Amino acid sequence: MIVMKFGGTSVEDATAISRAAAIVKGRVGQKPVVVVSAMAKVTDQLLAMAKAAGAGDRDTAQRLCRSLQERHYNTAGELLGTVRFTRFHAQLEESFQALDELLRGIAAVGELTPRTTDNVAAYGEMLSSVLVTEAFVANGLDAVLVDSREVIVTDSTFMRAAPQFEETNERLLANVRPLLDAGRVPVMGGFIGANKAAVTTTIGRGGSDFSASIVGAALGAERIEIWTDVDGMMTTDPNLCPDARRIKVISFDEAAELAYFGAKVLHPATVLPAIQKNIPVYILNSRNPSGEGTRITTRAPKCRNFFKAIAAKKRITIVDVAAPRILLAHGFLKAIFDAFDRHRIPVDVVSTSEVSVSLTLDSNESIPALAADLASLADVKYEGRKAIVCLVGENLREIPGIAAHVFGELKDIKIRMISQGASEINLTFVVEEEDVPEIVRRLHKKFFSELDPEIFA
Ligand code: ADP
Ligand code: ASP
Ligand code: MG
Repeated sequence: MIVMKFGGTSVEDATAISRAAAIVKGRVGQKPVVVVSAMAKVTDQLLAMAKAAGAGDRDTAQRLCRSLQERHYNTAGELLGTVRFTRFHAQLEESFQALDELLRGIAAVGELTPRTTDNVAAYGEMLSSVLVTEAFVANGLDAVLVDSREVIVTDSTFMRAAPQFEETNERLLANVRPLLDAGRVPVMGGFIGANKAAVTTTIGRGGSDFSASIVGAALGAERIEIWTDVDGMMTTDPNLCPDARRIKVISFDEAAELAYFGAKVLHPATVLPAIQKNIPVYILNSRNPSGEGTRITTRAPKCRNFFKAIAAKKRITIVDVAAPRILLAHGFLKAIFDAFDRHRIPVDVVSTSEVSVSLTLDSNESIPALAADLASLADVKYEGRKAIVCLVGENLREIPGIAAHVFGELKDIKIRMISQGASEINLTFVVEEEDVPEIVRRLHKKFFSELDPEIFA
């Protein structure tokens, strides 16, 4: 069997869904399970309406909800014949009534919790998965909806819930395997799941890729296909640099590093289940389905270029923690990391000196609480609007003068932190957010003007 995951843009309207249906039809013999994201931008809109409702702004919440309803109705109308649409219409109506009630409830209480946020956010994938299933059936596929909340079991960390693999694998085998055996095409929403008490959860933004690999690993897929809006994993974000080129093949480690440091094309957790079961992951373009895409695999062939790709992650905050000398005992770092742990804030880049530690974290709401906590330990300074730039390639430790090659190109740029050697495959540094486009363009020109034809297209 294989898993085919279609991202938001690949199911964004009737044309995109019809394209997805044709792509799946071409692979029916390989027993696909289809995982879909919410239609493009829908998750953002759901979160916006939840927030508006939480702030007591019922009008905005309702307006957003109505426009979402219209979009789903219109798409369904275009995709399904009259008879099918009439039946489906009632089902959509029910979902939107429930969503409307939920928003009213949030507005009445005037408070939005992570748990209710997930309740609202899950509508994106719930709606897209029923719609895509109907559209596939109308296209002659024997598609059948599997409610992800019944098979993807997570913990209760709402908005970034962690899958409970044992239980999830059992349920996927029990519920999805028989459908495949019967020659049917199961369709599931990505991103969503439920805890053991059947309360809806989501596994973090961009998480449908992760859902796809969870399903693939549980069912022993031959291949996991991530269908998106670009030709594959590219040498850098094509939005930042139009010269970006397709990477034909890349290792799991390299892809994970790129995903973690900002290459949005793949959710960073996607590779974990795939590595464990050694399942190759392909990134493919649903608008160019005959393209070869990118193959992500355990071992990539040797590459003549130093680097495979450049990623950048914006909205980073630098935290400088300066210790009073008296505290410079062995327990200092532990105390700092304990504080991050208490606030569940992941740290990306770290550098230390005799008297201070600098760390980077994603800018988010937990920072003020962390600040207060750390302030009792040491002097703490914060600076937002930073970005991490990350160059990825295998065996970087072995290449003499690699840093000179990189920083030689950036002589006039303010570099705030540098890290190399934590893994053999990345060189990472922190800069001002506004310098990112210029840095990426310069480095791309330097390192990707001539390309190893074995690795790049
Ligand atoms: P989907 O909705 O299909 O999950 P995403 O928007 O999450 O798609 O990811 C695809 C986008 O990732 C691309 O449109 C591109 O702008 C961005 N991106 C960032 N870095 C890269 C990269 N190195 N290669 C390809 N795409 C990238
Ligand atoms: N719809 C979710 C999001 O926008 C999950 C995904 O698309 O992968 O974050
Ligand atoms: Mg995505």
